[in-house]
Amino acid sequence: MTFNDLNLNKPLLQALADLEFEYPTPIQAKAFPIIMSGRDAVGVAQTGTGKTLAYLLPILRQLTFSKQREARILILVPTRELVIQVEGEIKKLTKYSSIRVGGIYGGTNINTQKQLIYDGLDVIVATPGRLLDLILSGILKFKSIQKLVIDEVDEMLNLGFRAQIINLLEKIPTKRQNLMFSATLNEDVEMMIDNYFYKPEYIELISRGTPLEKIIQQAYHVHDKPAE
Ligand code: ADP
Ligand code: MG
Repeated sequence: MTFNDLNLNKPLLQALADLEFEYPTPIQAKAFPIIMSGRDAVGVAQTGTGKTLAYLLPILRQLTFSKQREARILILVPTRELVIQVEGEIKKLTKYSSIRVGGIYGGTNINTQKQLIYDGLDVIVATPGRLLDLILSGILKFKSIQKLVIDEVDEMLNLGFRAQIINLLEKIPTKRQNLMFSATLNEDVEMMIDNYFYKPEYIELISRGTPLEKIIQQAYHVHDKPAE
C-alpha cells in the first residue's frame, strides 16, 4: 500500500512526495479510514511508529478552506518541543494548501500568541497551561472546535496535566470528534476515555508497531556545567 491508495488529495500527496514519504506506516494506514469516518478513536502504538501523521493526514484531508477566525482543530501535546514539532509537520503537509496553524506554549511572549489568535487560525497546537491562560484572557474561543486530538496522553498525565486537560475538555463544544494517541494505555488514560469519548474505536499496534528503521538512536555523555 502507498499513500496513493488512501483517499488523500493532491496538495497532501504532493507534500508527502516532497518529504519522500511513500508508504503509510501500519498505524497511519489503519487510522486513516477510522478518523475519516468521524468517530472517536484511540491510537496506541509505540514511539516512532508515525502517530503524528496518523491523525494529521485524515484531519487535514477533511479541513476545508475558511476565512473564519476561530480554530476548528485543537491538538494538545505535553511539551513546547512537541508543539513546535507538530506545528512543523503541519506546515510541511500544508505547503500546497492555505491552512493557518499556530503553536501555543508557555515560556514565550503571550502577546505574540494573542495576535496570532486574533489574526485567525484553523489549527491550534498547544500545551494545556498557556492555552488556559489565553481562554481566561478572553481572546481565545473554543466555540468552533470540531476535532480534538490529545497526543502523548500518557506523558501528559505523567506530567500532571490531568486537571488542566479536563478543564479544557469542559470548554469545548461536546459535538466534536475526540482523538487520542499514546504509546501506552493505563487506568488513568482509560478513565479519561470512559468519561469523555463516545464509543471510541481502538487502533492498537502494541505488538506489531516497531520503530521506523530510519531512526538512529545516539547518546552523548556530557560533563557537568562548569562553575560560573
Ligand atoms: P510517534 O508519534 O509514533 O512517536 P512520529 O509521528 O513522531 O512517531 O514519527 C516518527 C518519525 O517518522 C518522524 O521523523 C516522521 O517524520 C517519520 N515518519 C512518519 N511517517 C512516515 C512515513 N510514512 N514514511 C517515512 N517516515 C515517516
Ligand atoms: Mg508522537
